Amino acid sequence: MSQNRSRSYIGQAQGHRPAWVEIDVAQLRQNFKIINEDKPVNVQILTVVKDQAYGHGAAKVAKIAIESGCKYLAVATIDEALELRRQDVTVPILVFGERTDEERKLCLEYGLACFVNDKTQADYYSQLAASANKQTPVHVEVDTGLCRYGVHWTKAPSLIKHISGANNLFLEGIMSHFAMSDELDKSFALQQLRRFQEVLAKMNRLDLRVTFRHMCNTGGFLDLPQAHFDLVRIGILPLGVYPSQVCRRIPGLKPVMSVKTQIAAIRELETGDYVGYGMRYQAQSRRRIAVIPIGYGDGYPRVRNQGEVLIHGKRAAVIGGNAMDATMVDITDIPECRLWDEVVLMGRQDDDEIDAHEIAKLKNSVSYDVLAGWRWRLPRVYLTP
Ligand SMILES: *Cc1c(COP(=O)(O)O)cnc(C)c1O
Repeated sequence: MSQNRSRSYIGQAQGHRPAWVEIDVAQLRQNFKIINEDKPVNVQILTVVKDQAYGHGAAKVAKIAIESGCKYLAVATIDEALELRRQDVTVPILVFGERTDEERKLCLEYGLACFVNDKTQADYYSQLAASANKQTPVHVEVDTGLCRYGVHWTKAPSLIKHISGANNLFLEGIMSHFAMSDELDKSFALQQLRRFQEVLAKMNRLDLRVTFRHMCNTGGFLDLPQAHFDLVRIGILPLGVYPSQVCRRIPGLKPVMSVKTQIAAIRELETGDYVGYGMRYQAQSRRRIAVIPIGYGDGYPRVRNQGEVLIHGKRAAVIGGNAMDATMVDITDIPECRLWDEVVLMGRQDDDEIDAHEIAKLKNSVSYDVLAGWRWRLPRVYLTP
């Protein structure tokens, strides 16, 4: 990789602080390439870029996805979709979840695909499309056991028949979503798959056609090839992060996001000194500590004597309770530390790495939450080769 890396910033933060989220664009590209080689040729990829592509920047990730051959995107809100359109993203966009009547008008106006999960919605949306003289793409979510959005699997065939008969609706997709696809126990996922297959079999008997049947998120894509159908919806995988510690690994996939800062102050502690709010740490001997200008206000968990960061490729433990804008770490055993040295909160430094799963444990959460949880007051720095 070349040494000349250009930086560009998005979001409100313009980069005027020594703390940032770094996005390795070359690695993102590489991850898409690896996923394309891993997937069966007849399975298409829909890239999920909701919540700013889990904090990576939706438009940036979308553009690399499209350059890598992805022909479909998904988001969770209309505003997310419109922002992509403003950034000149022209591929089809599917908006997950339910829509208000007002939102449906926008879907129609901007050509966004949305879900129609009951007959009343179907009739309303079909009439709306008719009065605009349009035919608009819709997907049906079949609830096979997640009990979130969608039509119950036993009622799905009759809804699908109804939609297929509506002149101004184009039935583009039938989908379902797993409750648990990334754990070792796949029994419920397989039960959901059987329910989905029942719906598809019924559709076949009724001669109802659909372009995309889709069920898999990343966990399903990795571990349930029998559920791939025509399209898989993946969000976290191209970012190089796995949904859990146990799902299948694809060699070469690496995290795209790192979070870095620099040492802003160094202090020498005497035995008995306390550190930080709440006096949660007391030095048992003379210690040398570094203050880093990043805290829970940036999305790092609010911790007390928990967590580690990397400095000079070595681990420094967080001491005391961290603040909104500052965190203290023990650097007694890293004597080479100097002011403004680089500190890695998430990512790789030399031979060690702190990954999203490790940080997730600090707040009893999952890798998704950690990635999407880095606040936008941290500038996003895009490293491009
Ligand atoms: C977020 C989401 C996905 C993507 O899940 P990943 O595990 O990140 O691949 C897929 N489908 C739906 C319905 C989602 O809400």
